[in-house]
Amino acid sequence: MPLRFYNTLSGRVEDFLPLEPSKVRMYTCGLTVYDYAHIGNYRTFIFQDILRRYLKYRGYEVRHVMNLTDIDDKTIRGSQAAGLSLRHYTAKFIQAFEVDGQLLNLETPDIVVRATDHIDDMVKLIQTLEEKGFAYRSDGSVYFRVSNFPGYGKLSKIDLAGMRAGARVDSDEYDKADVRDFVLWKAAKEGEPAWDTPIGRGRPGWHIECSVMSMRYLGETFDIHSGGSDLVFPHHENEIAQSEAATGKPFVRYWLHAEHLIVNGEKMSKSLGNFFTLRDLIAEGYKPTAIRYLLGSVPHRRQLNFTFDGLHQAQQSIDRLRNFRYRLTMEKFPGGESPEMKSRAQAALQAFEDALDDNLNTAEALAAIFDMVRDINTAMDRGEFHDGDRPAFLDALESWDRIFAVLEDNDHAKLVKFGFITTVEKSHAADAVLSEEGKPTALGNGYTSAVLVDALTGDEIEKCIAARNAARRRGDFASADKIRDELLNAGVILEDTKAGTRWKRK
Ligand SMILES: [Zn+2]
Repeated sequence: MPLRFYNTLSGRVEDFLPLEPSKVRMYTCGLTVYDYAHIGNYRTFIFQDILRRYLKYRGYEVRHVMNLTDIDDKTIRGSQAAGLSLRHYTAKFIQAFEVDGQLLNLETPDIVVRATDHIDDMVKLIQTLEEKGFAYRSDGSVYFRVSNFPGYGKLSKIDLAGMRAGARVDSDEYDKADVRDFVLWKAAKEGEPAWDTPIGRGRPGWHIECSVMSMRYLGETFDIHSGGSDLVFPHHENEIAQSEAATGKPFVRYWLHAEHLIVNGEKMSKSLGNFFTLRDLIAEGYKPTAIRYLLGSVPHRRQLNFTFDGLHQAQQSIDRLRNFRYRLTMEKFPGGESPEMKSRAQAALQAFEDALDDNLNTAEALAAIFDMVRDINTAMDRGEFHDGDRPAFLDALESWDRIFAVLEDNDHAKLVKFGFITTVEKSHAADAVLSEEGKPTALGNGYTSAVLVDALTGDEIEKCIAARNAARRRGDFASADKIRDELLNAGVILEDTKAGTRWKRK
């Protein structure tokens, strides 16, 4: 099946054909760094991460550029209220955004750029628009003349009938009902940062920033531009107008947008008390991988209803997958292999890929893997699973995790590393770590590593070592390495000596 995306520009699902057959040039609107990012922002960033990962999975070389909006109305208001310089004020949120990205296993885009580092290029683009008759000056500011660009509205399907020619809007964000000439360059104001430039003293409007940064690194026409659905109008509509008016070429071929998120069925808002940053949820004890799973589990064009029940279920789903991987690597099975099993694994992988090919249908991709896990757990329980069947399923699971990125149990280690947890506490989860027979099923089952350090007794660690030795004896070094890595994740270091394997706690 070809890879297909819903393109906001055409309003339909299209086969994805990049400009160059094996390369994808992609731009994503990053965070406006005036506050900590909330889970609605992360819904979009996780969608974009899944998109990026799947393009690479499909063999494309991806050049991904993301901006950080470090100058706009919001960042200026925030810095003024805090009494800090813009650079100083935004630095804190840029750093927090980077840490959040690592917690959520977001791959870092190839190029991350800041608006304030590209002021000269913005001025040049505005000058080009002036030369071509698409921009005009008024009171020291420069505006885009919407009526001169016939394609205006093609992305957001806006009706220009009610627009008053020559009426202007100065704010970065406004409603469709307020469509009119928008600001490219804002005249300097008392107390605002400003640059002395050939088009006067002032600062850029928000929309020109993304036109400039995307074309600078990806060319005048590139493959994918994505963001939250709230950016379709006016931000992306205005980006198209500015870019295409200046170059005379199509700006972007595929526009992909993620729908917004609601919380318990209501719009997320500070006044309703249902507004959460990633950090709010971490403070409540929720794990970043569970948050990633939940936010990625609903296909991006569907509205996502965020609930705490959903978050608990996400953790249970991750635990189920980790337990399945644990069985695959640690449990003893009869020798041999079966062709049916191999084709079952291949069918699961195929269903997973078909789902993602279909406009990144993550819900179906999850279903494909859970159907497989259910079937194979049953086969294992019935003694129908063989030693030689392991690799095909490990491969399917790992292929799946290249996109979803939740199998590695490293939340706790990261939270410690970034200072979210300063003391190791044995949580209530520790009670459930060990199964009734005292088997070390804790490994990979979703509990945090520090809890495991507390919970895994020497006896249990010895059992893991014995399983690893058994794997090595039968030549299954991949499984042996996996056990060593799992123990390492749980804070236990193995040392192989002539006298046997020794262990110590980190
Ligand atoms: Zn943008």
